[in-house]
Amino acid sequence: MDKILEQQRRFFNQGLTRDVKFRLAQLKILKKNLPLLEDQVLQAIKRDFGKPEFESYISEFGQIKKEIDFFIRHLRSWSRPEKRSSILLNFPSFSEIRYEPYGLVLIISPWNLPFHLAMLPLIGALAAGNCVVLKPSELSANTSRVIAGFINNLFDKSLVFVIEGGVETSQMLLKERWDYIFFTGSKAVGKIVAQQAARNLIPCTLELGGKSPVIVTAQAHLKNAAKRIVWAKFFTGGQTCIAPDFVLAHESVYENLLQEMKAVITRFYGPDPSQSPDYSRIINKHHWQRIKDLIGAANVCCGGQTNPEQLYIAPTILRDTNWSDPVMAEEIFGPVLPVIRYREKDEIVAKLQQMEKPLAAYIFSESAEEIEYFLKRLLFGGGVVNDALVHYVNHHLPFGGVGQSGFGRYHGKESFLTFSHAKAVVHRWRMFDLPLRYPPYTAVKFKFLKKLFDWL
Ligand code: NAD
Repeated sequence: MDKILEQQRRFFNQGLTRDVKFRLAQLKILKKNLPLLEDQVLQAIKRDFGKPEFESYISEFGQIKKEIDFFIRHLRSWSRPEKRSSILLNFPSFSEIRYEPYGLVLIISPWNLPFHLAMLPLIGALAAGNCVVLKPSELSANTSRVIAGFINNLFDKSLVFVIEGGVETSQMLLKERWDYIFFTGSKAVGKIVAQQAARNLIPCTLELGGKSPVIVTAQAHLKNAAKRIVWAKFFTGGQTCIAPDFVLAHESVYENLLQEMKAVITRFYGPDPSQSPDYSRIINKHHWQRIKDLIGAANVCCGGQTNPEQLYIAPTILRDTNWSDPVMAEEIFGPVLPVIRYREKDEIVAKLQQMEKPLAAYIFSESAEEIEYFLKRLLFGGGVVNDALVHYVNHHLPFGGVGQSGFGRYHGKESFLTFSHAKAVVHRWRMFDLPLRYPPYTAVKFKFLKKLFDWL
């Protein structure tokens, strides 16, 4: 690793990556070779946790193709120095922001969208002119192997290198002197990353998780809400960072919503979802056991079946959940959906405001007034009204958490900005050199200075 870092540092300092033509060339290499990888990626993710190819295409492969195209289209204009107004105190002058790469970037990614969450920050970091070391997750080992083979064959390791490995590798990497760290994963590991980064004052982005609520009000269109909540929750077997974690349903629609969601599950996955090719498995035994325990003695409305050999947990809805139930303690990150009944909207807002700020929130209502009520009072990373998950795929929007769900943002232009330092530069000339600012600071000068601040 030391040798690779030394090579990357030397290469970065040569300045080649500052040239936008060089960066575009790297993106074009990625674009040209990506189609060769499609089948391998979809199959690898399927082997990792049985994720249907259709879901992998929408949420992983297709997204990466789109992101590369978007960057190729806009990178020149994003990279141009940006003029900013000058101020009279600096007259005459000209001010600008230059977007410059940080240098050496470490990216650590999780297993749940194993291709997407490794490649998306990689594209942003390279496009901004950085050198990159990427460590994908050891839990999605098949996909990580495909990524490492692809990237390490395509690029010189002095520009980008993928290192496979687990926790020790990650910890070894975190001790190095990076110029930027981009981490996606759990809150617990996020804290470790932030501590390591702080040791060397390394700027970082933390893309973490949280308990993302869904609110279904008395004025929601129930069939629409049920269909979209079920789709979003059980997509990738509930193992997405922005999956609906729990539902807050108004008491007047509570029973109907449960019945509708139950019917939708059967419509989507058949009477026995374990036979459906469209339903994912849990990533490993540890997580399977953790999720199974959450179902425990809870009041199961539908689902609840499990199979340890297949790491299968049926799409499960829990009814009459209380805030104090174990399932409400931590992010569920699996196919279990507790549904809590509420009476007054103030009561749930007060409760949500006491909880950690989530990565996402979803509001189902046909009333603009009600939607505004919640949007104005709840703080969350990003969200959707009358649907779920879909904000994630809009590359015109920033994506990131707030509070305990992380800090920093990326996707599209936000990725470029995240991996660039905005260098502020003022250009001055020799003429009109106001003698006022130079010592000795006489009383007259001081008086004039005060007047000047009043005028400007
Ligand atoms: P994780 O935190 O366990 O692992 C993420 C990465 O950190 C892996 O590459 C792993 O090797 C490494 N790692 C694990 N333990 C470490 C340690 N002690 N020291 C240093 N590195 C370590 O997360 P996960 O289980 O892979 O992913 C699930 C979590 O990620 C969920 O909480 C989910 O909400 C979150 N997530 C967030 C986003 C987002 O965009 N905000 C996206 C996907 C997942």
